[in-house]
Amino acid sequence: MFRPNAFAKVAGPAAIAGALGWSLWLWPSHFLWIFPASGSLFLWFFWAGEKEVKYIFLFLVTVAGFLLPRLSGAGDSVYLTAGALAEVLCLWLLFFALSHSETSRAAAREKLASEEAAAAARVKGLEDELARYRLHLDSTLARIRDKGALSSALQDMGSASSPDEVRARLEALLNKYFPGARVELRSGAPRDFADKWVAERKIPLLVRNSETDSRFARGFFGPAERSFMALPLHLFGRLVGFVRASAAEPDRFKAEDLRGAELACTLAGVSMENIHLFEKVNELAIKDGLTGLYTHRAFQSRLEEEILRSARARAPFSVVMSDIDHFKSYNDTFGHQAGDAVLKAVSETVAAGVREVDFAARYGGEEFALVITGAGKAQAAAAAESIRRALEARSFNFGGRASGVTASFGVAEFPAEASAAGQLVRLADERLFRAKQEGRNRVVSA
Ligand code: GH3
Ligand code: MG
Ligand code: MG
Repeated sequence: MFRPNAFAKVAGPAAIAGALGWSLWLWPSHFLWIFPASGSLFLWFFWAGEKEVKYIFLFLVTVAGFLLPRLSGAGDSVYLTAGALAEVLCLWLLFFALSHSETSRAAAREKLASEEAAAAARVKGLEDELARYRLHLDSTLARIRDKGALSSALQDMGSASSPDEVRARLEALLNKYFPGARVELRSGAPRDFADKWVAERKIPLLVRNSETDSRFARGFFGPAERSFMALPLHLFGRLVGFVRASAAEPDRFKAEDLRGAELACTLAGVSMENIHLFEKVNELAIKDGLTGLYTHRAFQSRLEEEILRSARARAPFSVVMSDIDHFKSYNDTFGHQAGDAVLKAVSETVAAGVREVDFAARYGGEEFALVITGAGKAQAAAAAESIRRALEARSFNFGGRASGVTASFGVAEFPAEASAAGQLVRLADERLFRAKQEGRNRVVSA
């Protein structure tokens, strides 16, 4: 709404009052016609939104209404006096009607303004809430991203094929998550107070600020270790090492970081255990439980491989079949357990008698099969002979009685004497049979 300035506020009513006064001065006898025009003053005040000064003019107008009949010279006229009083009354009515309207408009304006202010406060509150929500959303998204990356890194660790690979992946993972921090993997017994703290309490250690941490005296940690974490590494429930992370600035690691690192360490331990178990299962499948030599099945596949390799390299190899002499009598005389002990001892002698590149298997009950790589039958027979002698030289003690064990050997060469695996084994077996027939404890290679 238009608001006149201070001058107009005074000049407006003054001009109206002046014009009225002037008109009354000129035509005092027509005051009944001129006097009502003072209502325009109140219209002005209403329009200008004036509050205080209008009461003065109401007073002046009222006084004028009472004085005018006398001043106009018609003082005795009852009609004129009554007319003037009626006009004063009408002007009062106009005044109060306008004032009331102004008051209710002001109240409506005020109500609107307060509603506006409340709405603005609500908008501000919503904006603040939105900003907080956005912040929360950003941090949640960052956490989800972090967790996603962590879970893929953890999966990656689970796919490692050797303990060293697991260790390297764990170190890479921690380095990635704590850039700029120093990460160290230690294996073996505790080396310093932090390792000992973890080993004794069996929980990970988090030091947010080594200078203010009341658990440790000053000087325990170096200046590059204001923030510090130490976690245990377990393998099959045994403490096998420690993971340590440190940074020069305080509050570098939070409780959440410790939990993440703990998860990574646990998973690294589980991955290593898996690798160990997998190797063990594999070993059990190809190694004989009693003697530690390869199984019959492993011998067959090695034989096939050797045939291919030998054909490619155009180099011969030999197979030696061996059987313990009169083994049944050991069992019968000293019992099955003593027989097992002999089997084990003979297996040791057999395994020690071949090179690293060769292959020694338990072919059956007390029968052995050897693959002598890159060797003709002369060389293989020499190897068999040295095993035979070593066995012969060993003495066994059965229930306080000293006794000896001997074995017989048959040797055959690939490809000179046989061109297929079955044929080669059969030939070596035939020669073993002949060794038995010819008196046992010997090597037959022709
Ligand atoms: P030879 O070979 O000299 O002709 O006589 P041998 O007494 O060794 O005869 P044979 O090969 O027929 O006997 C094999 C015996 O080996 C039969 C069985 O009781 C024994 N044997 C086979 N496997 C095992 C084993 O795992 N443990 C024990 N203790 N004995 C076994
Ligand atoms: Mg036998
Ligand atoms: Mg035998």
